Amino acid sequence: MKLKLLVVAGDGIGPEVANEAVSVLRLVANASGHELKIEEKRIGGIAIDTDGTPLPEDTLNAALASDAVFLGAVGGNKWNALPPNTRPEAGLLQLRAALGGFANLRPAFAIKELAVNSPLRTEVIEGADILFVRELLGGLYFGQPREWNKISGEAWNTMRYTNEEVVRVARIAFQLAQKRGKKVTSVDKANVLEVSQLWRAVVTEVATEFPDVTLEHQLVDSMAMLLMTSPRNYDVVLTENLFGDILSDESAVITGSLGMLPSATIGGAVNLYEPIHGSAPDIAGKGLANPLGAILTGALVLRHSAGLEAEAVAIETAVRKVLEAGFRTADLARGNTSDFKVLSTTEMGKQVRETVSTLLSAPVN
Ligand code: NAD
Repeated sequence: MKLKLLVVAGDGIGPEVANEAVSVLRLVANASGHELKIEEKRIGGIAIDTDGTPLPEDTLNAALASDAVFLGAVGGNKWNALPPNTRPEAGLLQLRAALGGFANLRPAFAIKELAVNSPLRTEVIEGADILFVRELLGGLYFGQPREWNKISGEAWNTMRYTNEEVVRVARIAFQLAQKRGKKVTSVDKANVLEVSQLWRAVVTEVATEFPDVTLEHQLVDSMAMLLMTSPRNYDVVLTENLFGDILSDESAVITGSLGMLPSATIGGAVNLYEPIHGSAPDIAGKGLANPLGAILTGALVLRHSAGLEAEAVAIETAVRKVLEAGFRTADLARGNTSDFKVLSTTEMGKQVRETVSTLLSAPVN
């Protein structure tokens, strides 16, 4: 396997966590004899300061010429006063649009050792392992017409989907379910919205291509409750854009810390991988950032852009083992303090590398 990965580490804790993720990826590539070529470019606030724009042309061209893009995080107080379309976050939105990914994959999973970090009871979340597949380029966020008419005192947005937009994201959900628990729960509001009726009809049709996967439909309002009362019942959850935005954030409480969660956006010209957290200016530069979400994002790079499933699983297993061994970053250090040891960002990265190395029987470097 040959993989050309562009790393845009960005601002705040972005570079801190991206460094750890990249070190793990290099180790895995060396250990398993795969060629990993890493290029680094600027995005976000750092690019505004250096290049005068949050997404320099050079970065965009490098992204389009790579096999996958890994983003740390963008943003920070320093740039908050800028107009929205010139802020660091605008660079990320432009990058997402240029890469064209339409399926956003976001796992939410329980880890036994971190149950104390979740506001939900351990017996409710134990064993939960959900993969959200959220449509990212359609629906209410992009539909036209949209306007806030301040003279008439009205505002409107349009939730619009075409058959093709639903087919392509549904196929990805079913394909992923085939490799997991073989169940897709499609979320809509078909009792009220025509766009959801189209969604439900198209997903039902796509399901016939995947007879080994069970499909169920769930209304979004009851789904919001069911995810909290019985998260174990779900495998792949397929949603349109707005519903997925809300439900995947809600489900982050199952894992217990923002710093633990990875994401991938696939289906476009180049896949984009990012931990779900932001640049965390409050802890940047202090060695307090949890790199595990970024490291797990690296596992998604291997799974979805390199076809290296065993290596992806090795990284995911290593993260679990490190937590089982009692290692925590500060954000995870809740409960009985005698049960764990608090590590800095780089120390946590090193623990994961050592464990991956043992799993792959490779020397640490
Ligand atoms: P945030 O995710 O940066 O931080 C929220 C809270 O979680 C903070 O207390 C932070 O310390 C903590 N946290 C986040 N990631 C952590 C980690 N890996 N380890 C330990 N603790 C962690 O969200 P915010 O504070 O709302 O936003 C800060 C900046 O990040 C803003 O400029 C925002 O626009 C930007 N942002 C960027 C992205 C992105 O780049 N994808 C996403 C969200 C927010």
